[in-house]
Amino acid sequence: MVFAPDEPDSPDRARTSVDADAVETPHRAKAATDSRGPKMQPARCAAPPTGPTRSIGAATDGRLDHGCLLPAKGAGYVRRNSAGWATEETVALLQWATRAVATLYPRTAPVVIGALSKRNGGKLRGHGSHQSGRDIDIGYFASDNRRLSQFRPMHAGNLDVVKTWALLGALLSSGQVQYMFMDYELQVRFHRHLEREGVPQPTLDRIFQFPAGRTARRGIIRHASGHADHVHVRLRCPPHDRCR
Ligand SMILES: [Zn+2]
Repeated sequence: MVFAPDEPDSPDRARTSVDADAVETPHRAKAATDSRGPKMQPARCAAPPTGPTRSIGAATDGRLDHGCLLPAKGAGYVRRNSAGWATEETVALLQWATRAVATLYPRTAPVVIGALSKRNGGKLRGHGSHQSGRDIDIGYFASDNRRLSQFRPMHAGNLDVVKTWALLGALLSSGQVQYMFMDYELQVRFHRHLEREGVPQPTLDRIFQFPAGRTARRGIIRHASGHADHVHVRLRCPPHDRCR
């Protein structure tokens, strides 16, 4: 089974539910067919929204109405940044994906979650985006199940490629991911992993910028400097929201 994420600029933004069959590694295929596997649930917010959650404007110039606060920890993750607000769609997807990994790897160290957005969105110090509740900074899983308390620079010697891809692949399988920003050298590791798993070339080309070069405008996963210690995940604008 192979997931087929939408093109980054696809007008099809209506797909908001996770397709459990849209996963591609043996581990996740097992989870998808296991009736005990986690199902997509509504967001569990530490501070429930006081009205309908809305992402407004651009990720680089926008705001968030009635955001959902991601609890400081949950199944498979720990949040290490006070900017923990996002749309309910964003929180629901993240919680579903981290729970899926925790189900596959029951004794896994939690993945470190960094910045989402401020309570009402808007400019977030140190970031160019994260303004409209659709951006998440996610750490990589370290090899040997090493527990990380913050983001750590990753390379071939300390990156758990398989477990990290279980998380990133789950997020991609939702069809909600617009971009993932990741250091180009790390893209190579994940690309090789999926090649070994037999993922077809057209799917690899839709997912990865690699091997076209770190400035190529293709693929969902693209290079950005400063992303060897975390992946920046940008979700699409929910169909009912006034964002872009
Ligand atoms: Zn970021």
